[in-house]
Amino acid sequence: MAKQVQLQDFEMVRTLGCGSFGRVRFAKYKPDGKYYAVKFMKKHEIIKLKQVDHINNEKRLMAQISYPFIVNMMGYAKDDHFVYIIMECISGGELFTHLRRARKFSDEQSKFYGLQTAAAFAHIHGKNIIHRDLKPENILLCPNGYSKLTDFGFAKIVEPGTRTYTLCGTPEYIAPEVLLNKGHGKPVDWWTLGILVYEMICGQPPFCDEDPMGIYQKILAGKVYFPKYFDKNAKSLVKKLLVADLSKRFGNLKDGAADILQSKWFSTYELPKMEAMEYPAPYKPSMKDDNDVSNFEDIPDSTDMPPKVTAAQDPFLDW
Ligand code: AMP
Repeated sequence: MAKQVQLQDFEMVRTLGCGSFGRVRFAKYKPDGKYYAVKFMKKHEIIKLKQVDHINNEKRLMAQISYPFIVNMMGYAKDDHFVYIIMECISGGELFTHLRRARKFSDEQSKFYGLQTAAAFAHIHGKNIIHRDLKPENILLCPNGYSKLTDFGFAKIVEPGTRTYTLCGTPEYIAPEVLLNKGHGKPVDWWTLGILVYEMICGQPPFCDEDPMGIYQKILAGKVYFPKYFDKNAKSLVKKLLVADLSKRFGNLKDGAADILQSKWFSTYELPKMEAMEYPAPYKPSMKDDNDVSNFEDIPDSTDMPPKVTAAQDPFLDW
């Protein structure tokens, strides 16, 4: 259970990454001696960019989720400058870094992360939560080689039968219904899963261009080129995910997520065994120990202190 924690109990070690409103730092929690990832978010900036609801949502939604393939939230805190989310530290680095280094992943490795991400989506969709921002930067690798979905900054609760309209996501991962502003729901996550699987297998997403407008045109045209080495079962799944017509997209048919989780490509794994982490991972990040964060890019630390937000103006009441 996530709880309110005292910031002075943390010893900040180094920056792990940069988020939209500040850094994520690797920190030691003195009461238990363990290391965590502390996400700093500048209050002033959140208010200026009218993102208060998003950030309050991120905390509220993360607190509801506990699943092996999703980063677990341990606590939260605030002071005059920042609000903070404290998470388990997933120290193997971003899938993005490993994918760019390897150029592309083997079919086995792609399937391993693909199934875990699909299971993570099935889990949050069961709580009517949509993630809306899948990309290789938002999947982190554990030292044991398993993956976890992170960044619920764009996540949202959608009541069954309702739709949401905000344009969000990374250009290459945006679903056609989002571009067309038709209103969107759980199927956007399934579209992004198709993009991710393709990118892991080919080393680049299916709709690429130097200019975002070019990407959008290609997404709407919907033509996907599959190289010869693309496994036929993987191809069949990706084709069923990258379907513009929502009434035909996998994940949105009468059997829901089961169509994906039980697809032929994933059938070499049993989900309960995967959830119990019984399978040996096809790849493990090279690390000295579980607290070695050298797989994260070296980002110089910053002492930049954003403006204070006084108690009278503070919209983060329940932190
Ligand atoms: P976010 O703002 O959540 O997108 O986080 C920005 C970056 O910080 C991510 O892309 C990761 O590099 C890093 N990061 C975020 N959460 C964690 C975590 N729980 N453990 C380790 N690194 C993290």
